[in-house]
Amino acid sequence: MDFTVSERMQTVLGMITEFVDKELIPMEPEFLTHSFSSMLPELEKKRDMVKKMELWAPNHPKEFGGMGLNLLDHAMVSEALGRTPIGHFVFGCQAPDAGNIEILHLHGTPEQKKKYLQPLVAGEIRSCFSMTEVEQPGSNPVIMDTTAVKDGDDYVINGHKWYTSSADGAEFAIVMAVTNPDNAKYMQASQIIVPCNTPGFNLVRNIPVMGHAGDSWSSHGEILYQNCRVPQANLLGPEGGGFVIAQERLGPGRIHHCMRWVGICTRAFDLMCHRANTRMMSPGKSLGSKEIIQAWISESAAEIQAARLMVLHAAWAMENMGHKEARNEVSFIKFYVAGIMQKIIDRALQVHGGLGMTDDTIIAFFFRHERAARIYDGADEVHKASTARRILRGYEGKTIR
Ligand SMILES: Cc1cc2nc3c(=O)[nH]c(=O)nc-3n(C[C@H](O)[C@H](O)[C@H](O)COP(=O)(O)OP(=O)(O)OC[C@H]3O[C@@H](n4cnc5c(N)ncnc54)[C@H](O)[C@@H]3O)c2cc1C
Repeated sequence: MDFTVSERMQTVLGMITEFVDKELIPMEPEFLTHSFSSMLPELEKKRDMVKKMELWAPNHPKEFGGMGLNLLDHAMVSEALGRTPIGHFVFGCQAPDAGNIEILHLHGTPEQKKKYLQPLVAGEIRSCFSMTEVEQPGSNPVIMDTTAVKDGDDYVINGHKWYTSSADGAEFAIVMAVTNPDNAKYMQASQIIVPCNTPGFNLVRNIPVMGHAGDSWSSHGEILYQNCRVPQANLLGPEGGGFVIAQERLGPGRIHHCMRWVGICTRAFDLMCHRANTRMMSPGKSLGSKEIIQAWISESAAEIQAARLMVLHAAWAMENMGHKEARNEVSFIKFYVAGIMQKIIDRALQVHGGLGMTDDTIIAFFFRHERAARIYDGADEVHKASTARRILRGYEGKTIR
C-alpha cells in the first residue's frame, strides 16, 4: 500500500495551504462579525486570485474550467480548505453547488449544461438543493408531500421545503418533487430545475440556526412552492429517477464534507496546542504541562489521523469499487468523523476557557456551525442502522467459534 502523495498534489496542497493562511484566515474576524453579502466584493477578489493561480474548482471537470481532480486528490484539497469556513467558497467547490454541478454534469441535457452548469462552475451564479420538507422526515424522504403535476408543457410544483441551504441569492434550485405517485416508492420523485425568480418560488425566510439566520451563501432557506410553473424541459435526468440521482449526489458529497471536517479538526487542534503551550497557569507551568490536556492532545491527534485515513480510504473505495460497494465505508466516515470533530472542537474550546466562548477565535463558530454534521446528509443513527444491518446480514447462517 503506497501512501505517497504525488509531486503535483504536494505542490497544489502547499499553494492552497499558503493561500488559506495568508489570504483567508485574516478575513475571519470580518466573517464572524459581518453579513456574508457585505464580504462578497472582497471574496470575489480572492476568487480571482485563485483563478489566476489555476486552482479554481479543483473537483470539477477541466472542460468546464475546473482542475479535474479525482475524488482522492480532491479529498486532500478539501482538508486544506476546510481549515477556514470560507475556503471552499473562495476556491469554487462549496456545497451545495458542488453536488449540483456533479449531477448536472452527469444528467443535464446540453441546454441545461449551457444555461446552468457552465455559469455555476465559473462561479457566476449560485444554486441550492431543495429536498427536505418541514412536515415530513428528511431521514425517510420517500415520504414527500411536494408534488410536480404536468400541465400542458409545464410542471406545476407545490410544496413546503426547508433547509434549502444557500437559497438566498441563488439563481436556481434543484427541487425534489413527486411526479409519479403510482410508481414503486423509490421511483416516485424527480429532480426539477427551478429558477428562483419563477413566480411561486417563495423564500419565506432564512432560518435562524444556532442563533444566526445568516444571508446569501451562508444561510438555510425555508421555501414555499405555490403553483410554481416550470417547463418540463427542466426535468433533470429521468422522471422518477430523483432518489437514484440524490444518492449519486450524496456519495462524493459525504467525502467532501468529511474531509472538510478533518480540516476543521486540524485547525481546532492547532489552536488548542498553541493555547496549551502559551497559557501559563503558574510560573514556568503552561497549560500543556497538565496531564489531562496532554491526553486530549494525544487523543485528538490519533483521532484526526484515523479520520483522515478512513476518509481517504472511502474515497479510494468509491472511485475504484463504485458507490454501492463503498456504502459502508461512506457511512462509517459520516458518523465517525462528525463525532470526533465535535469532541475535538469541544476540547479546543475548553482549553481556551472563556476565550473559547467568544468570537475572538474561530472555535465558537465551529462549535455552533458543525453540530449539524451529525444531522445532514443522513443523521448518525440512519448511517449506523444501515451499516449494522449490512454487517449482520454478513453473519447470517454462519457459525462463529
Ligand atoms: C445545516 C443543515 C443544512 C442542510 N442543508 C440541506 C440542503 O441544502 N437541502 C436539503 O434538502 N436538506 C438539507 N438539510 C436537511 C437535512 O438533510 C435533514 O435535516 C436530515 O435529513 C434529517 O431530516 P429531519 O431534519 O427531517 O429529521 P428527522 O428525519 O425527523 O429525524 C430526526 C432524528 O431522528 C433520528 N432518526 C432518524 N431516523 C432514524 C432511524 N432510522 N433510527 C434511529 N433514529 C433515527 C435522528 O437522530 C434524527 O436526527 C440540512 C440540514 C441542516 C441541519
